Parts: sequence; C-alpha cells; structure tokens
Amino acid sequence: MPGRIVLLGGPGAGKGTQAASIVKREQIPHISTGDIFREHIQGETELGKQIKDYLSEGRLVPDGLTCRVIAERIAGDDCEEGYVLDGFPRTIEQAETLDRLLGERGEQLDVAIELHVEDEEIVGRLTARRTCPECGHIYNLSFSPPAKDNECDDCPGVQLTQRADDKEETIRERLNVYHDQTEPILAYYEDKGLLRVVESGGKSPGEIAETVEEIVSAKEAV
Ligand code: AMP
Repeated sequence: MPGRIVLLGGPGAGKGTQAASIVKREQIPHISTGDIFREHIQGETELGKQIKDYLSEGRLVPDGLTCRVIAERIAGDDCEEGYVLDGFPRTIEQAETLDRLLGERGEQLDVAIELHVEDEEIVGRLTARRTCPECGHIYNLSFSPPAKDNECDDCPGVQLTQRADDKEETIRERLNVYHDQTEPILAYYEDKGLLRVVESGGKSPGEIAETVEEIVSAKEAV
C-alpha cells in the first residue's frame, strides 16, 4: 500500500537503489533531490547555475532553494498516493519544512527508514559506483558489476559513467556534511516514532530490499 516514505542514510548507503525497488513495487514516484539538481545542472537552467558548485564540492544546497524544489515536486498530481523521498530532508530545517508542507495538505509522513553503513564501507562502495547515463541503472564494480566491461546490461553500447562527486576527497566531505547536518534528523524522526533503522553494512542490495519491504508493508503499524 502506497505511502509517504523518507529514505535516510549517508552518501552511498543505497538510498537510490532501495528507492528504485520500492517505487517499482508500490507504483509511487521516486523523488531524489540529487537527481533533480543534476538534471538542472545538465540542462544549464538558472537553478542549475546557482547550485553547480555546491554539488561539485559535496556541500549542501541552501535550504531555501532545496525546499522550493521539493514543495513544487510534492504538489504534483502523481504524488497524491505517496512517494519515496531520497536525499531529502538533509537538515532539521528541511525536515521541519516538510512537516509544514504536509500539514498544509492535511497529510503526514508514514515512515523514515535509515540505511546504516559505516564510513569506510561507504568510501569503498562509492569509488566503485557507476551509473548508466541512459536508464539510470546503478552498478557497483565490486559487488554488482555489469556483464560486459563498463557497459550497461540493458542499453547495448552505452558506457557507464562515474558521478563527478564520487572522488574520494569529495566523498569524505559529503560524509562530514552527513554527520554534521543530516544525522540530527534521525533523532527528530525517532522522537516522532517514525524511524526504522536497517543495518545495511556488508549486505547485498537484495537482502536490504527484503528488510525495507517488510518495513514498508508494516508501515500502518509504525
Ligand atoms: P545525492 O544524489 O542525494 O547524493 O545528492 C548529491 C548532492 O546534491 C549532495 O551532495 C548535495 O550537494 C545536493 N543535495 C541533494 N539533496 C539535497 C538536499 N536535500 N539538501 C541540500 N543539498 C542536497
């Protein structure tokens, strides 16, 4: 049953992969602020020009800009039955804004799921992460490599790319930002009784998906 789901976790914790698997099952939109921002940068829009440096340096885009993007997106007709938020909120201010936006619509969040992975595993995962620029499929050269060297399994001839912010130095900066600015959100949702933690270290995306699925199916009981 669809719902409003927040996925939390550091960079490379598997939010994108798990969001993709939830939306496939639940038929609700996958809303990733990172993906929205990257599209703006690629399309060289006004917003794209304003936020480019934040992404390339691994810093957070200011709350005002981020919340405007989300407010617009969750007001979309396709969001009535729910959605998976991936990468939002990332600060207490964003979490409070989300609550306010939902409150104005007479809605509420169903569950916040944290995918927990230790920093050193994250660095290893992200330096091996590759994405198909055509279909968005996420590969990991170590534990979920493509069948052919650096080529998407579903898009013949398309070469996989590495995200510009998946360099070790930027990853370390993104981890610092996560610990300083995003981790306080865990207590915020815990206080509301909405937080569920999935220990994701050393587990395959399939194993994690099973646990996430159980939580999503049981969310009425949260
Ligand atoms: P992600 O794809 O979620 O790892 O996000 C990539 C980058 O986009 C982050 O390192 C930030 O620079 C920016 N970003 C994504 N979501 C947010 C957010 N909720 N608040 C601020 N910046 C964000």
